[in-house]
Amino acid sequence: MDAISKPSKDEYRQLIVACANDYTQARTEHRKQRILSSLDQLESFAARYDELADSYSLETLGTHTHCGNAAKDDLVDLYDTKFVPEGRPGRETYMSIRQSAPKNRCPLCSQLPVSTVDHYLPKSKYPAMAVYPRNLVPSCVRCNGYKLAKSDELTLHPYYDNIENIRWLKCVLIDGEAISVEFDVWENVVPASLRQRMASHLKNVGVGELYQVSALSHLADTRHRLCEIGNAGGAAAVHAHLLEELNSRRSYRLNSWGTALYTALCTADWFIQGGYARIEHD
Ligand SMILES: [Zn+2]
Repeated sequence: MDAISKPSKDEYRQLIVACANDYTQARTEHRKQRILSSLDQLESFAARYDELADSYSLETLGTHTHCGNAAKDDLVDLYDTKFVPEGRPGRETYMSIRQSAPKNRCPLCSQLPVSTVDHYLPKSKYPAMAVYPRNLVPSCVRCNGYKLAKSDELTLHPYYDNIENIRWLKCVLIDGEAISVEFDVWENVVPASLRQRMASHLKNVGVGELYQVSALSHLADTRHRLCEIGNAGGAAAVHAHLLEELNSRRSYRLNSWGTALYTALCTADWFIQGGYARIEHD
């Protein structure tokens, strides 16, 4: 996961007002009034969200079907028809969130291009957060789809989880008939609630699976080179090469799949002593 800058919350009230005022037809007048009469509740819900997210306890924020007079359908419709579509009052905020990830890289998986916006807390269960900018995270379509389909367990939050200096992503090498890898969370990460969200991120955003595919492809790509280095200089040369690769990756990102993979390879004697020749390269 990549930590990215939070969007501003200063214009939140004005944003809701502008979106709600875009309901101009008689049949939507009640919807507009229900939303406009709930501004204080929507704002205080957002303040509570910030407070809990800052203290890693968003799981205590209850699900709901209303916020003030506004019902779930009102707030979901506000997002779908007044926030996202081109030409509507929320579009500028929507696009600025969508374009906020450095290098256009999805902050959830750190792999694929951003192509949508993900509700960190789903709007179906937390409709009060449907258009709150700090609940909206740029995302690739894969991560967004996984989160929609999976469980309610909370995942990592790119705006609030400052975890880039904590080593948390662990790669486990599996020395079977064919070499395989799995991604997990280091056991020493605290608090436990953060460790659980990291594990949920790997599972419920599909990130562990994505890293596994990338790491196995990389191993297949690098097998020939490792065999050449081993034939020329033995296990010591292989170890030195793996360390160089690790240092280069770790200096860039502590929790990339590459850093985790090379951390595991550098400490696996069986791999360094010739196990690399068993990497599958079909
Ligand atoms: Zn992604």
